[in-house]
Amino acid sequence: MPKVYLNGEYLPADEAKISVLDRGFIFGDGVYEVIPVYGGRLFRGPHHLQRLNNGLKAIRIDSPLSDAQWLTILEELVRRNGGGDQSLYLQVTRGIAPRDHRFPEPITPTIFAMSNPLAEVDLSKQQGISAVTLEDNRWLRCNIKSISLLPNILLKQQAYDAEGGEALLVRDGFVTEGAASNIIIVKNGTLITPPQSSHLLPGITRDLVIELCRTHNVPHELRPITKEELAEADEVWVTSSTKEIVPVINIDDRAVADGRIGDEWRKMTRLYRAYKQAFREGNVE
Ligand code: PMP
Repeated sequence: MPKVYLNGEYLPADEAKISVLDRGFIFGDGVYEVIPVYGGRLFRGPHHLQRLNNGLKAIRIDSPLSDAQWLTILEELVRRNGGGDQSLYLQVTRGIAPRDHRFPEPITPTIFAMSNPLAEVDLSKQQGISAVTLEDNRWLRCNIKSISLLPNILLKQQAYDAEGGEALLVRDGFVTEGAASNIIIVKNGTLITPPQSSHLLPGITRDLVIELCRTHNVPHELRPITKEELAEADEVWVTSSTKEIVPVINIDDRAVADGRIGDEWRKMTRLYRAYKQAFREGNVE
């Protein structure tokens, strides 16, 4: 039985219990992070903790722990679950209180974390995914990594029902992101991804791809992408921490370009893998 962390204790998952009055359960009142762990260490840990702190601030919860304390408890959980490569889930809710929309005073946030083994993505087996475009009917604060994921779940399920692997979301004619990923397109050798805004999550993987573009002089633009540009793109990728960079080869039953995985994906994936390897060897933070 994997161990989880709950409010200061490390417990077998089936022994961890939270109150039915937890505002996470009642209202979805909290934020979360999913952090990949390689060789027992949190990949892009400071970036994830920064996003967590930004999210807590945005929903007006004082961060209950310092970054050093977060790292200590999360690394300890990873260690107790056998180290190596894991996918770490961390959630902070506003805490337990009688049901009332108004914030309770004082607030003791509930802190929960769990981790599961994370298999290395096998690039040789990557075949690309299909996707469907759907109207982005989520709220206007998508930069907050809220645990209230009902809109994302419904959109993702709609994609699965249409035999797609991801829903690409369109708001006012522009593609914002995937239901559980960011989007990057390639046109004439240039990577294009929408700029940060309240319409999308500041994805850690997306940010790393942009960083790699800067380091390796890969042409890239941060600008809105129209639905038409998506349809005419040479390559389309979706990014997320555990799936990394995934090529989309079919959208709305139409092939993306020639329907095959593109060369730019191969190049960026090589850079991403090299960065990961440097991290494993302790050469990058
Ligand atoms: N957008 C949404 C809506 C997501 O759920 C995710 C994955 N959590 C992402 C983008 C990608 O973010 P990251 O690269 O930090 O995993």
